[in-house]
Amino acid sequence: MMIKPQIVPSEECLRCDVCCRFPEANSFLRPYFTEKEIRQALLYGIDPIHFSDQAGCQIAVVPHPAGEGFLCPAFNHETHQCRLYQVRPFDCQLYPFALMWNVERDTVLFAWDPKCPYLLAQSGEDMPPMWLDIDPASLALPASLLEQAHMVELRLESEDTIASLVAHPRLITDFQPDIVILKPLPRLTAALRDPL
Ligand code: SF4
Repeated sequence: MMIKPQIVPSEECLRCDVCCRFPEANSFLRPYFTEKEIRQALLYGIDPIHFSDQAGCQIAVVPHPAGEGFLCPAFNHETHQCRLYQVRPFDCQLYPFALMWNVERDTVLFAWDPKCPYLLAQSGEDMPPMWLDIDPASLALPASLLEQAHMVELRLESEDTIASLVAHPRLITDFQPDIVILKPLPRLTAALRDPL
C-alpha cells in the first residue's frame, strides 16, 4: 500500500515538532503497522518488543530520551528523521490526510488533520481549531492542495488499496471531531461494509 508523493515538503517536516512524538504512552495517534510493515520495520532494526501483535498493531512508543513525552522508536530525535522512511507504514504515508468513520459509523470519510502546522498554515490559520473552539469545517485548503488530495483519494479508492484496507480495517479510525472532512469514500465504504 503506497500513498505517494509526500504532500508536505521535507524541509517543513524536518523543522516541525508534531509528528512521531506523542504526549502519552498509549496515545491514540500512534501509527498502526500491518503484518508486512512490521516485518519491514524489523528488517530496518526496530526491536520486536515494540509490536504487541505481529499480525498488526499500533507501535509501542518510548520515553523521549531528552525531553517530555514519548517518541516512535523509529524516530531519531537528533536529526528529526524516520529510520524507516523508505518503508514507513501506510498510516504515516497518509498523514496529514486521514481515514475515519463518520459518527454513525456507516461511511468512511477522507479528511485532513489541522494538527499538521504546514496544512494548517495553507488553510490561512495558525492555531488548530481545538485550541480556538472553531468549527474544523470552516478550514479550507487551497486549490493546489485539493488537487493533491484528489490524487490521494483516487489512490485510496483503487482496488489494491481497498483490498489492503479491508484486510486491515483498524487503519480507519473512529470519528475525530477535530479533523477536517474532505469527502466520503463510497467504494471503500461499500467494500468494508460488504467484504468479498
Ligand atoms: S514510523 Fe517513522 S514516520 Fe511513522 S511515526 Fe515512526 S518515526 Fe514517524
